[in-house]
Amino acid sequence: MTRIDDLPIRDELRGQSPYGAPQLDVPVRLNTNENPYPLPEALVQRIAERVTDAARQLNRYPDRDAIELRTALAAYLTRTAGHPVTTAQVWAANGSNEVIQQLLQAFGGPGRTAIGFEPSYSMHALISRGTGTGWISGPRNEDFTIDVAAATEAIAERRPEVVFVCSPNNPTGTAVDADTVLALYEAAQAARPSLVVVDEAYGEFSHRPSLLPLIEGRPHLVVSRTMSKAFGAAGLRLGYLAADPAVVDAVQLVRLPYHLSAVTQATALAALEHTDTLLGYVEQLKAERDRIVTELRALGCEVTDSDANFVQFGRFEDAHAAWQGLLERGVLVRDNGVPGRLRVTAGTPAENDAFLEAVRELKKGQ
Ligand code: PMP
Repeated sequence: MTRIDDLPIRDELRGQSPYGAPQLDVPVRLNTNENPYPLPEALVQRIAERVTDAARQLNRYPDRDAIELRTALAAYLTRTAGHPVTTAQVWAANGSNEVIQQLLQAFGGPGRTAIGFEPSYSMHALISRGTGTGWISGPRNEDFTIDVAAATEAIAERRPEVVFVCSPNNPTGTAVDADTVLALYEAAQAARPSLVVVDEAYGEFSHRPSLLPLIEGRPHLVVSRTMSKAFGAAGLRLGYLAADPAVVDAVQLVRLPYHLSAVTQATALAALEHTDTLLGYVEQLKAERDRIVTELRALGCEVTDSDANFVQFGRFEDAHAAWQGLLERGVLVRDNGVPGRLRVTAGTPAENDAFLEAVRELKKGQ
């Protein structure tokens, strides 16, 4: 049998494993920060209509520049993120992972580096490696906020071409304040200048306003977003960014032609027509997230403040054993490798009750 290492594969990929949480068949799955609510029936019908129209023209390539979709995304951001955004400032791709990949293809690459402040979203490091970009692991404080002094020092010393700031941060749930982003941006401009990517995949769940208005007058600042979480459309694969139009021009140099299928564009447009209903679910999830924080604290857990649709909790002497204990009680959460801590996604009220009951039992048994 041929193994990966028998292939003439790139050296830096040898011995690596693919990213991904275990997909286990468990009654309560709260491990991948999905939205637990299926799309409303009226939206499902609208998707069917729009996709039917698209199907009639599938002999043709889709709109390569996805103008109608980017215009709808710009209108959504203008309405919800506190800053007017134009079509030329928006770019869309198959999930924000692809947005990040395109940014790294254009601004990273061999001989260049990217920095992130860990623990954070591990795909920032993985996509960096996949695009031949060197990865620098920057520090965080004990409470999982970004250590601004250490971070700006690391940027000044290492002079990375790309700086990742995840807000709210996965897996900790920590929001980053505007002053911190500005301090990192200033440091990054003084050092090189470099591109600062604010990953707001969970932006809609935050107690705080979006960091998007900071792009004004800062051509090297990018905010990335996704329809996977707030729009409850992880299966759609649609992510997007807002930035200076020059950044959008730059990613077009590396994107594959026709990367967004006509079916994807039609589905995303239908979902955007139902924004208000979907944002209503976000409000319910925010309330559930806050309830999980409160109840876990009442159970004696140490819980990190969360601005996302998930909650980091602990501390466990052996986080993996605790993960296993919850799994045995029918609840799948995520062990992100943060010592002593686990992450749970806010689900439906019934799923959250089942999770909290499993933690209660686990604690009793300790
Ligand atoms: N950024 C962050 C911080 C995430 O947690 C995720 C999903 N886990 C993504 C980006 C990618 O999401 P998608 O590709 O589904 O848009």
